Amino acid sequence: MRATTVEQQIKDFVLNEAGMDKVGIASIDRFNQSPKGNHPTDFLPGCKSVIVFAIRVPDGAVNNIMRVFEDQTYDVQGVYGCFGYGGAPNYHLLWGNYKIARFVEKITGCIAMPETAGPTHGAKMMSMRHCAAAAGLGEFGWSSIMLTPEFGPRNRFGAVLTTAELKADPLYHGPKLCDPSKCHVCEHMCPTGAVPPYDPDQVRHIEMGDRSFEYGGTHWVKCRVMCHGTYGEYNPTGADLVPRDMENPVGSDLASAMGYYKDHPGHEWIQHNPTYKCGNCLAYCPVGNWRERFYDTGISHIDTTAFIDEGAPAACLPVGKLTQDAAGEAE
Ligand code: SF4
Ligand code: SF4
Repeated sequence: MRATTVEQQIKDFVLNEAGMDKVGIASIDRFNQSPKGNHPTDFLPGCKSVIVFAIRVPDGAVNNIMRVFEDQTYDVQGVYGCFGYGGAPNYHLLWGNYKIARFVEKITGCIAMPETAGPTHGAKMMSMRHCAAAAGLGEFGWSSIMLTPEFGPRNRFGAVLTTAELKADPLYHGPKLCDPSKCHVCEHMCPTGAVPPYDPDQVRHIEMGDRSFEYGGTHWVKCRVMCHGTYGEYNPTGADLVPRDMENPVGSDLASAMGYYKDHPGHEWIQHNPTYKCGNCLAYCPVGNWRERFYDTGISHIDTTAFIDEGAPAACLPVGKLTQDAAGEAE
């Protein structure tokens, strides 16, 4: 059937021509709490709408996080890095952003700015997870990662900013996806303690339109140290290069790790060492049919139900069969 509205034409293009798996549209008022310098109008003066889209990270790419963590098969880390993290997904989004921005300009006559697709493309980025929430694609998980009902945290997001005033999609009001008082998977599966235990006094809030989103205070420094392969699970020595109990692992505390990387230039420290050497909070979150996709298939040998309490959201519980991966729009 022929699309009748500009919004529908854009969504059809995003899903069918640009090859994305989900799409939604955010109105500019949903960014009222954006920090200075990160509001859409800081990037595109006169911006009125943000078109946000997602691609699902392939299960086969996520599998490599599990091979490293569960089997210590370190040499497949780069497969996740390439196909689940900074390589192919960013290039898919890069070309998608370009095509979508050109299409939006063509059919609206307004300006459409493609957002950069990840740090590998060398420009300051807006927060894609906040864009995704603003466009109704899902809600935040305790791990701070954006969850979609279909794919859990296993998505990558892109956005096109436009001066066109488009009809916004509703914010996500579907079944609750994450309740960190009942699900503790990301906390238990985080090797560094970067994802803290649930504490109602430590919950972070953000207001958008008629919704309040909540998420946890993930310790990004601890996470970053882990993702650079500093702990034994992720570096070839099998030993921790920094003590695990450091509250704030930066500066001189890291001298021993820096020494290691200095002596092993193939594993260079912070700036040049790949940053994809963990990802457990993304890989093991139960939302998005985790159990059916990864446990029942034998891809993961870790039974994470031990970390899920009675009364957890249905999205965290086994459904017994895979749901369709059908491309979905926000509405
Ligand atoms: S693992 Fe559980 S607590 Fe963590 S984000 Fe996913 S649903 Fe929320
Ligand atoms: S990527 Fe790993 S270290 Fe970082 S927060 Fe997630 S589970 Fe923790």
